[in-house]
Amino acid sequence: MGKLSGASSSLRLRLRAAAVCPIVTVVRKVIANLLALQDLEMGGKRLSPADKETITQLRAQIPEPILAHYDRMRDRDKKAVAVLRNKVCSACHMTVPIGTIAVLMRGQDIQLCGSCGRYLHLPKEAPAETPAPAPVEKPKRRRKKTEPPITGT
Ligand SMILES: [Zn+2]
Repeated sequence: MGKLSGASSSLRLRLRAAAVCPIVTVVRKVIANLLALQDLEMGGKRLSPADKETITQLRAQIPEPILAHYDRMRDRDKKAVAVLRNKVCSACHMTVPIGTIAVLMRGQDIQLCGSCGRYLHLPKEAPAETPAPAPVEKPKRRRKKTEPPITGT
């Protein structure tokens, strides 16, 4: 009996994981599409027919008002998406309010930088704090080496 109930509860868990807030996926996808579009259109490289095809597909997936804002920025030779690093907008170097960051972290909505008006992209694996570029002197604490347990059963 125990086996059976365990199987059904794990199935329920899987179902719940699949239904995780669809808006989060939508928001992330829009920003990801914008970034890809920006890379293609503003990457400075010559576009192949395949690239142009990708651009058409990406544009079709981005909501109209967002795309319009993107185009306005692009027309002024500005990138419409800025990466958020250390709570700072990478485009204008202004600190982004914590409330905005919280919304971004939860993936609830698309957020604009309050000072430069760019869409903020929070990289997925962004660590809370920057890994220090210079080695910080820190006492190593890896002395404790666990011995393999002696199996004597
Ligand atoms: Zn900015």
